[in-house]
Amino acid sequence: MEKILIVGASGQLGTELVVKLREVFGTSNVIASDIREGSGELMDGPFEILNILDADAYRAILKKHGITQVYHLAAVLSAKGEQDPHFAWKLNMESLLTVLESGKEQVRKIYWPSSIAVFGPDTPRDHTPQHTIMNPSTVYGISKLAGERWCEYYCQKYGVDVRSIRYPGLIGYKAKPGGGTTDYAVDIYWKAVEGQDFSCFLKPDTALPMMYMDDAVRATIELMEADASLVKTRSSYNLAGMSFTPDEVYRAVRKHYPDFKVSYAPDFRQAIADSWPKSIDDTYARNEWHWKPAYDLDKMTVAMIEGLKSALITQ
Ligand code: NAD
Repeated sequence: MEKILIVGASGQLGTELVVKLREVFGTSNVIASDIREGSGELMDGPFEILNILDADAYRAILKKHGITQVYHLAAVLSAKGEQDPHFAWKLNMESLLTVLESGKEQVRKIYWPSSIAVFGPDTPRDHTPQHTIMNPSTVYGISKLAGERWCEYYCQKYGVDVRSIRYPGLIGYKAKPGGGTTDYAVDIYWKAVEGQDFSCFLKPDTALPMMYMDDAVRATIELMEADASLVKTRSSYNLAGMSFTPDEVYRAVRKHYPDFKVSYAPDFRQAIADSWPKSIDDTYARNEWHWKPAYDLDKMTVAMIEGLKSALITQ
């Protein structure tokens, strides 16, 4: 029987991933952990307060619960990372090395997310291939690219079964995003449903790769459940869902809220977005473990609006 620990579970991704993992593996077999308490359904099961920079505390939790798999989600994200680059590097790298080390001992399988932030201004921006020029220009992207190299290194040198996805911007309604450059695409739905105008920190024509949270959670579990022989890429997989601009998501929202208004006030996050791909080629994920997204912009828009409406009613 697998015993799964999620590190950084109270964030945007963990809040939804934990609930799905508990459906698959049983509530008592999925231990959520974070430096802070989470909210909603996440807290309806085992939860530990854990600062992942405290390696002894991490190892004690592995022992206490007999953990066999770790999903390591804790990180400083792209926009926040630029405010304190040294701390972003410290948290993102030290924590990954702590978790990878545990893969030599008790832990049999590790999941660690990378990001489209591993790409930079020299990368081809349309249908960005799996293998290409990287040269990230944010500390977040530098830490994710270094992390990918460490994952492949631990797999090759020590046989650690570590798996990874380069997520695009993730969009869900159950938790607010944690300081990334694609956060606008979550906030815009909140404002529309709350009947407010929206000020967007990116220009209207800034195309970025995005993914609805249901697709991201499904991809993550499918990759982790795939037979090890299918998982040939041990750095991190490109993964595509959809790609859109602020103007396109605005138009999709307007189909449901015709009076909704958006203004544009680009800030420092515009430069980060301009250094990232517009769309992703995920041929490797499709071919190796048969990835296929289910949500496009219109389908996601309906799901976001319905989800947010019911979340606001129950608040
Ligand atoms: P988030 O910021 O919403 O959540 C991160 C969680 O980590 C938070 O709950 C935070 O409290 C926790 N945390 C911070 N410091 C910690 C520490 N020292 N010990 C333990 N927990 C700590 O981030 P997210 O959006 O859920 O992202 C999860 C992962 O996915 C990250 O690695 C991120 O880089 C990656 N990712 C996210 C996106 C996205 O659009 N959300 C895109 C690409 C990659």
